[in-house]
Amino acid sequence: ELTGKDYADYIKKAYELIHENGDYVTELDLATGDGDHWSNINMGFEKLVEKYEELGQLPISEEFKEIGKTMMAVIGGSSGVLYGSAYLAAAKAVKGKETLDCQGVCDSLEAMLEAIMSRGQAKEGFKTMIDSLAPAVMAYKKGISDGVSELEICEIVKQAAVDGAENTKNMEAVKGRATYQANKGLGHLDPGAVTMSYQIGTLMNCIK
Ligand code: ADP
Ligand code: MG
Ligand code: MG
Repeated sequence: ELTGKDYADYIKKAYELIHENGDYVTELDLATGDGDHWSNINMGFEKLVEKYEELGQLPISEEFKEIGKTMMAVIGGSSGVLYGSAYLAAAKAVKGKETLDCQGVCDSLEAMLEAIMSRGQAKEGFKTMIDSLAPAVMAYKKGISDGVSELEICEIVKQAAVDGAENTKNMEAVKGRATYQANKGLGHLDPGAVTMSYQIGTLMNCIK
């Protein structure tokens, strides 16, 4: 069971991981975009950490709503709108829930995926954050339906997110700033996919 407090703890850990990879993520967005992805996302998580006490006291669905509103307001660029929409959709998907079980976490991630795809008019293979999130959601659903243990699901989902981000290296961008590059970013990782994999990996570590 993931409580509101657990999720606030997750936010703090995700912030730490994002924070310490500043140079690396900035470098990635400088190669294929405009170089601000890390500062955008870092700023969003910084604000969320400032709200740690408040967030941790909320039922999980309310917490998602608050996170979505904060991200929408604080994070600049494409990622602000996409993450904002994602969390607002997740809040709706788990509406009324105080805590989340394994299925609940899966449902919230799936709602985020759908919201990001519809908001950004993108799908898997477009060299975006979706390329980390989509395989993670797929692995999560499969793990649950195959009756895999919760502990194992966490490992599989984390690996799927990391592998998915890694695969963006071989993709040509169809959406986002990398499409402006002559080679469509081929040979470079997508920064949004990398930070998505940080978040999913950290969340999976918090559950098990
Ligand atoms: P911006 O591109 O506006 O500077 P960021 O640098 O914060 O915004 O975020 C860039 C990331 O957003 C990309 O690496 C990609 O993962 C993601 N992204 C961009 N456009 C889309 C889209 N249409 N759908 C999904 N993700 C997208
Ligand atoms: Mg950018
Ligand atoms: Mg920008």
